[in-house]
Amino acid sequence: MDELRLKLAVQKSGRLTDPSLDVLVRCGLKLSRGKDQLVGYGENMPLDVLFVRDDDIPDLVQEDVCDLGLVGLNVLEEKRLELASRGHAARFQTVRNLDFGRCRLSIAVPQGASWEGAASLSGRRIATTYPFLLERYLGERNIKAQVVTLSGAVEIAPRLGRADFVCDLVSTGSTLSANHLREVETVMESHAVLIRTPLKLAPEKDAWVERLLMRIDGVQAVRESKYIMLHAPRSALAEIRRLLPGTESPTIIPLDGAADRVAVHAVCRENVFWETLESLKKAGASALLVLPVEKMLT
Ligand code: ATP
Ligand code: ZN
Repeated sequence: MDELRLKLAVQKSGRLTDPSLDVLVRCGLKLSRGKDQLVGYGENMPLDVLFVRDDDIPDLVQEDVCDLGLVGLNVLEEKRLELASRGHAARFQTVRNLDFGRCRLSIAVPQGASWEGAASLSGRRIATTYPFLLERYLGERNIKAQVVTLSGAVEIAPRLGRADFVCDLVSTGSTLSANHLREVETVMESHAVLIRTPLKLAPEKDAWVERLLMRIDGVQAVRESKYIMLHAPRSALAEIRRLLPGTESPTIIPLDGAADRVAVHAVCRENVFWETLESLKKAGASALLVLPVEKMLT
């Protein structure tokens, strides 16, 4: 591969794959990728995407095989602790927190099992695929328990008699309840992050990393943003500005032939709900329009 092209590691197939590719596409990347190909070629940017298992992403950046990686904070922190246990320092740097891949690493107990806080873990067997994060959690609380490290299917360990409790990733909790487990304690909150190598990159590559970061910020800023337009009596302006969610300075435009009424245009950095529109209407607004924002560069 060309040395002047950035290499970005993305999960090959899993929960992070679609949202990761979605961010890249929104950043303007056109990727050509044959079916099952492990490398996607950026047609309009000097950036190639390597499709790998998410667990390998921190290592690929650590070992400078990739310049960048999109991975869950849970995987990243587990890796950091594992490296530390072997006397190595993590070399990857987190450069952006991303608004997808939200989940938490939680302790769950079989439904019906008694639970009186973290002390209930004492002397019990806990199944997990995140032994280092779990050990840290237990260590911080001075709890002695047996960590049972599994490579998957943690949620069925109690039923198989391999563990008493589990420590697993949860988002909605439906997998836990389907397995008759009850979430009792959060070990860690997680989301996807963008990591990079700490190595100095060639100036051309560095400039592209900066551009990508700016575009990612723009992509994340527009996700919730809406452009709102409305008409209002001048007398209601103060109240209307108060009601507009997450706006800085709206544009106020005079309306032809109506001295006491104005048009208000504003970018709302938060979602605009029906309730907001109803309150605005009550405050005297009319002709309300809410439009999606396509791109934003600040
Ligand atoms: P791989 O084959 O790449 O190792 P995997 O089975 O480890 O895949 P996924 O289940 O696709 O991985 O999860 C990838 C990441 O998605 C997790 O590490 C976590 O950061 C995030 N994630 C978000 N919600 C959840 C969830 N409910 N359960 C598991 N992971 C989640
Ligand atoms: Zn994995």
